Amino acid sequence: MVATTQADEAVPTLHHWAGGPKDGRHDRFSEVTNPATGEVTARLPLASEEEAAEVVAAAKAAFPAWRDTSLAKRAQIVFRFRELLNERAGELAELITAEHGKVLSDAAGEVARGQEVVEFACGIPHLLKGSMTENASTRVDVTSIRQPLGVVGIISPFNFPAMVPMWFFPIAIAAGNTVVLKPSEKVPSAALWLAELWKEAGLPDGVFNVVNGDKTAVDALLTHPDVKALSFVGSTPIARYVYETGTAHGKRVQALGGAKNHMVVLPDADLDLAADQAVNAGFGSAGERCMAISALVAVGDIADVLVGKIADRAKALRTGDGRRGCDMGPLVTKEAQQRVSGYIDAGEAAGSTLVVDGRNGEFDAEGSGFFVGPTLFDHVTPDMSIYTDEIFGPLLSVVRADTYEEAIELINANPYGNGTAIFTNDGGAARRFQNEVEVGMVGINVPVPVPMAYYSFGGWKNSLFGDTHAHGTEGVHFFTRGKVVTTRWLDPSHGGINLGFPQND
Ligand code: NAD
Repeated sequence: MVATTQADEAVPTLHHWAGGPKDGRHDRFSEVTNPATGEVTARLPLASEEEAAEVVAAAKAAFPAWRDTSLAKRAQIVFRFRELLNERAGELAELITAEHGKVLSDAAGEVARGQEVVEFACGIPHLLKGSMTENASTRVDVTSIRQPLGVVGIISPFNFPAMVPMWFFPIAIAAGNTVVLKPSEKVPSAALWLAELWKEAGLPDGVFNVVNGDKTAVDALLTHPDVKALSFVGSTPIARYVYETGTAHGKRVQALGGAKNHMVVLPDADLDLAADQAVNAGFGSAGERCMAISALVAVGDIADVLVGKIADRAKALRTGDGRRGCDMGPLVTKEAQQRVSGYIDAGEAAGSTLVVDGRNGEFDAEGSGFFVGPTLFDHVTPDMSIYTDEIFGPLLSVVRADTYEEAIELINANPYGNGTAIFTNDGGAARRFQNEVEVGMVGINVPVPVPMAYYSFGGWKNSLFGDTHAHGTEGVHFFTRGKVVTTRWLDPSHGGINLGFPQND
């Protein structure tokens, strides 16, 4: 469904979106690939600062009418968007698989999790209700309201081409803002597809816009005076940069960064269930999830048995083209494939035990896709790069700990704090863990504890810069600002001069 402007090239050239397709005018392009085959599938124009400013101008022009559109009408358009997405979710999932590589069922799951935020945003009339106090002072009433900000920017990573933008734009739009989305240049088509869907749902032109590009486009949004707020998701160094630059330019910023998520398995846990979940959470989406488990902490004397069970399951996974019913797809680019292979080399060289090796496996795909199979290391220690770094690939490291205390110290010493999980049948231990662990999202026998749309998503420490998490009521708060109105309808008793500070009476 993504419309393209066709030049003479062998592959289509994509565009930006501001009221409709908007061609790139400059000569900077990047290539979009199908990671399962290695084929180049499209050329993507990378916006100049001037082009990004034009898209911001379209969003600015649409803001006054959109903020004054009734809540009833805005909610109806979000409802219509939901209906269309339900009808056509499969198309979007296919686009995601074609550019990201994740298997189709996983892409469909991503769309469904994004749809939950759309459904939450359908309740915007309720979410935006203010409060009113009658007779705060004699015949004086006070009302609090929340109003939209204006143009808001969303900068998203490659690993969730639909879901991450959908953490933000349904709420931003429903609350009366206009949006400029800068998707990852690796996976741009989902954003353009969503823009077309909004148009079909009846959203006025200029309310949802897409600017494609790289650092130049991001910097243009970070410094543009008409962009009032930025929601960023990506790696920690860029999240920190976006937070510091955006706030220095007077913007409200929430910047979600990288992760190193630990799963603790206590000796009393059901080891078969724990092994299943470690494999699902470690290798789902080829480990390219910010909530993936990348470090498993085996407590006590269970490690030999648990590692054996994980290894059996990992070896049975089928890796290949996500359109072929495989369990796991490729990595997003050749560079990512090489980076992950490099970490496997480093883990071996550092002296950990390579139990399952994902290099040079057999992959169910045509062409030269960017595959690394499931990889399992045991006897990993905290000084090794496979432990310290966010690898973002199908590499699970098992660290052995003698006690619960040792496990929690490891997690709390980690610079990231996105997600974590504990597997145990001991309620007291689980409760202690949830109380003591310094991480934003915690699972008790749930390996990937992504909050529902009506709660808020976000990590601690280097996994989030800013103080507001994504979606839920924190999302509504982020995309609105408060105003308090004090009202008195004058009558003769209010006359007289008094320069003192008003006293309540
Ligand atoms: P990335 O940081 O490379 O890119 C994210 C966005 O920033 C992209 O739109 C990209 O174009 C832009 N960008 C890249 N370099 C830039 C620069 N120098 N200046 C300005 N903008 C720049 O991240 P990625 O590789 O696309 O995504 C993977 C990362 O995202 C992982 O670290 C993962 O943990 C993280 N992530 C975090 C969450 C979360 O909720 N915390 C969710 C998903 C992904």
